[in-house]
Amino acid sequence: MKILKFGGSSIADVEATNKSLAIIQQKAEEDEVAVVFSAFGGVTESLLTCAQLAKRNDKGYQSILQDLEKRHLSLAKNLIPVQKQSPVLTYVKVRFNELEDLLHGIYLIKECTPQTSDYVVSFGERVSTYILSEALKEQGAVYLDARQLIRTNSQFGHAKVDFKVTNEQIKTYFNEVPGLKVITGFIGSTDLGETTTLGRSGSDYTAAIFAAALDAAQLEIWTDVPGVMTADPKLVYSAITIPQLSYSEAMELSHFGAKVVFPATMQPAMRKKIPIYIKNTFDPSHPGTLICDESGDGKLIKGISSLSDISLLNIQGPGLVEVIGVSGRVFGALAHAEVNVILISQASSEHSICVAIKSSEINKAKEAIRREFFHEINSGEMDELVVLSDMAIIAIVGENMKHFPGASGRLFQSFGRNNINVSAIAQGSSELNISAVISKADLQKGLNALHEAFFLSDHRVLHVFLVGVGLIGKTLVGMIRNQLPKLQEHSMLDIKIHGMANSRYMAFHEDGFDLDNFEPPSEKDQPMDLQKFLDTMSSMNFSNSVFVDCTASQEVSDRYQEILEAKVAIVTPNKKANSGTLAKYKQLKKLSSQRNIKFLYETNVAAGLPVINTLQDLILSGDQVIRIEGVLSGSMNYIFSELEKGAPFSEVVAQAKEKGYTEPDPRDDLSGMDVARKILILGREAEQDLHFEDISIQSMVPEDCANIANVQEFLQKLKQHDAHFQKLLEEAESKGQKLRFMAVLEGGKAKVGLNAVDSSHPFYSLNGSDNMILFTTERYHEFPMVIRGPGAGADVTAAGVFADIIRLGHYSR
Ligand code: ADP
Ligand code: ASP
Ligand code: MG
Repeated sequence: MKILKFGGSSIADVEATNKSLAIIQQKAEEDEVAVVFSAFGGVTESLLTCAQLAKRNDKGYQSILQDLEKRHLSLAKNLIPVQKQSPVLTYVKVRFNELEDLLHGIYLIKECTPQTSDYVVSFGERVSTYILSEALKEQGAVYLDARQLIRTNSQFGHAKVDFKVTNEQIKTYFNEVPGLKVITGFIGSTDLGETTTLGRSGSDYTAAIFAAALDAAQLEIWTDVPGVMTADPKLVYSAITIPQLSYSEAMELSHFGAKVVFPATMQPAMRKKIPIYIKNTFDPSHPGTLICDESGDGKLIKGISSLSDISLLNIQGPGLVEVIGVSGRVFGALAHAEVNVILISQASSEHSICVAIKSSEINKAKEAIRREFFHEINSGEMDELVVLSDMAIIAIVGENMKHFPGASGRLFQSFGRNNINVSAIAQGSSELNISAVISKADLQKGLNALHEAFFLSDHRVLHVFLVGVGLIGKTLVGMIRNQLPKLQEHSMLDIKIHGMANSRYMAFHEDGFDLDNFEPPSEKDQPMDLQKFLDTMSSMNFSNSVFVDCTASQEVSDRYQEILEAKVAIVTPNKKANSGTLAKYKQLKKLSSQRNIKFLYETNVAAGLPVINTLQDLILSGDQVIRIEGVLSGSMNYIFSELEKGAPFSEVVAQAKEKGYTEPDPRDDLSGMDVARKILILGREAEQDLHFEDISIQSMVPEDCANIANVQEFLQKLKQHDAHFQKLLEEAESKGQKLRFMAVLEGGKAKVGLNAVDSSHPFYSLNGSDNMILFTTERYHEFPMVIRGPGAGADVTAAGVFADIIRLGHYSR
């Protein structure tokens, strides 16, 4: 005999139900089976809402009830052949009439006891199972109302089973009645015949009770996920199926929130050593999870589960130290008030006892403790109770934790890295479970961080928020899209973009944008609001978040500090932050190293060329910079190498502008300010305390051209200076030299300007829009280290940004 159980999610609609029925038909041909059903998906919840509304004298329950009736009638019509429908439809209508009377009664007396509530919800399982037994008539189905056989006490809402009576009744019934039994889950009855329920999600338990009573060969729980997974797949998208679990591990996981199987289910199965299979109705060939006596493979932990809506109650005070019996009184008082304690932690100083409780029970708990310790609180031996609300519990579970050290270390490290504060911890002496209480707002991030730390230790997901979807930003997105399959396969790195903004609009995607159909944010999205962008980023609260700033905006760079403080890494080509005040630069560097959160800006100088990383490596490895020389502006180098070909200066500048080599106003390049910013950053990276004022800048904008508003007029006016530049060129050429616009840093001073270099200088041969940087250091002092290549353009800049992002993926391992 096999017991099959189908939960609400497997019978949520006609399509799902047909899948379930097909599985049952096939199984019934192979073996002797009995089937347990829940209510149709969502029905229990709706029935409870009806009862609550009626109790509050709110007629709103009527329309919910009507919808429920319609839904059941429609399911019956779709699942049962027309000629056999009539008695089933009558059955459904009669049940709903009863329900209507019942709810009307609750409405009138404005009261709904747990007993009445149990009776109301019992209709869900009774009606669904009846309809489905009729749908399985051809297989010889017999409808079995479990209230007939499962005997419980009168703890309505979560009644306890009397196994002696129940087991006898089940065995007798199965001996006497032939056919495919189709059984209502979730419900039982007292010896007075009152309807009870076994606790929310209790149909799993019903199935286990029948399996144990009948010594079934196995119990199969069919649901909407492929087994018990390493975490709730609704919260951790990378969760994977756990192939095998011990009964204790499964119990522990489900106790702490893995609702895929109801905790009590394991007890009857464990007693009789009946294997439980958790299977996916929507993918029946998937092996799912086997829960049995053995824990299976040797992973450090098996799974992570969580409970939200938790409050922490702290009981503390000087009067608690070394007083015997305090904890006994605390737990006695809570038990008396019927408050369920989920987790306890006590400091060895005995100064405080901390208990985690469902938030819905916290007031009851507080009252009970206040009453119990009335005198101690009044006399000051005990402090006023402190409650932390909006908390959650995360538990890591696995039998192997007791054999191998390191689980709690990894847990705390991963919380620490992600800025998650732990308010309390508990580890049972069985070492099957370590639980931590954290803020509810951090729950999803915490689950994902732990999941990565324990299950995907070689696999990393970076969660990107991109501001600036212009040329560079768009190119970057394209590169990520093209390279992602390789990164996933070879570097175990996944990149998801969750937020994107340009200057006008912004858009977000919880699961990450589909990069194959990428569109920059537009009017169909939200208007850009930087504060909102940052708020949304922090509310998504991913582990390994990265803020990528592809703008040149001061406003954006002004927010770096708070972004780093929120433990979000930054990658940017935007020079504004690093070339601002020295104090700001130092503050960001310090913050990044203290908090161990990366701030990467390789593309601040010479786009994707490895300049900053190289310099940082030199310094870190103990080298000292003597001199840095650089041709750091592609536009300027283009202009001066074109000048050699004979055209007048003003014409070359106009051409460079036309070809897009310069800023829209070429004076932004000619002024030398941009080069100055770059040498400033290089100087700072070389550990020199440089201020912008320390740089002497020789502008290439003639004085009388500086204040002309119109760019065309400026270019016109520039013609008057062609002769001057021609003269400079001829002078240089006469000495066998070439003109290069360069930056030099030496002895704590930086200079930016036009120089003439002879053929022995590496800059002599540099042409086009290339950049070149020479590092003369203690190690490289005879011949400088030379870095050369294209130092501007969307492609090479985006590639540099991308390389920084990938670097982050390696750092976060
Ligand atoms: P059913 O209707 O079949 O009883 P439930 O909704 O009660 O199904 O349980 C299945 C759900 O449990 C899944 O959809 C999933 O979101 C949730 N769940 C929580 N934790 C886990 C976990 N560790 N593994 C699998 N599912 C989980
Ligand atoms: N229908 C009940 C509930 O929703 C029992 C179950 O689904 O297992 O709690
Ligand atoms: Mg369930």
